[in-house]
Amino acid sequence: MQDDLRFAETAAEAWAPVAGWRARIRGAARAARIRIEAMRQRPAAAPFVRCLYAHAVFADTVPTFRAFLRAAKQEGEFVDTPTLRAIIADGRPSDGRFFHLSFDDGFASVYEDGGPVMEDERVPYTMFVATDLIDADPKTLNSYFAHMPAYRARVRTLDWPQAKAAAGGIGEIGCHTRTHARLSNISGEPARLADEIAGAKAIIEGHVGRPCDSFAWPYGTATDIDHRGRAAIAAAGFTSNFSAVRGVVRPGTTDVMDIPRHQVEFHWPLRELMVWARGFREA
Ligand SMILES: [Zn+2]
Repeated sequence: MQDDLRFAETAAEAWAPVAGWRARIRGAARAARIRIEAMRQRPAAAPFVRCLYAHAVFADTVPTFRAFLRAAKQEGEFVDTPTLRAIIADGRPSDGRFFHLSFDDGFASVYEDGGPVMEDERVPYTMFVATDLIDADPKTLNSYFAHMPAYRARVRTLDWPQAKAAAGGIGEIGCHTRTHARLSNISGEPARLADEIAGAKAIIEGHVGRPCDSFAWPYGTATDIDHRGRAAIAAAGFTSNFSAVRGVVRPGTTDVMDIPRHQVEFHWPLRELMVWARGFREA
């Protein structure tokens, strides 16, 4: 269904360049802080649990992606969501160093370009998919990308056989609503909230053929969800819920229904990826 659309094949085609002089100055200042932090940081000696998420892995970023996984594996073990949930909920093991890796929205490159690397490196991963974007028609894709200024071209999304195949390997298919809805905008509409949350869960389970237990709310900041959204996620039977708020995971204390994650993207320099993997700005 997506054949008649043009899609970005590389990270450079996909991600929009920074526009405007203010944004460029902010970007330069941020890059300088990252460089300083990279020189200052050392691999953690203390235990940690750190969740990282990205959106895509394009063919041109595979070398950086692989280098990052190998570098991170020197510093911690990548665990799947059930293991992460057990570590957080039980507060153990207290002496480990752990990473959890996920990808939001459901882009095909994660499975096609990143999947073989993660299989090779034995790094489990979760893809949080917005179900309407899977096997999506052009109109649906256009309306999604119209709300995503970070992209300058459309990025191809998964089809259901790919989602099922990912879940049959070391991947997990998690839920990211049906339409990539901002839950705080629809929390006064119980039927719509249920459709976006429980409805998307049922769609995933129908196509993938296994339970869908993990949720990540679109946009991911604290203002993008409220108590009604949280209640609907719990009521639908999800057992973990991830945000996009950078923060510390504290086993035994962090709420498994509000797990912080650090964004990384694999067109970023390896140095910057490692700065986030080492918990920059967690304090
Ligand atoms: Zn998203």
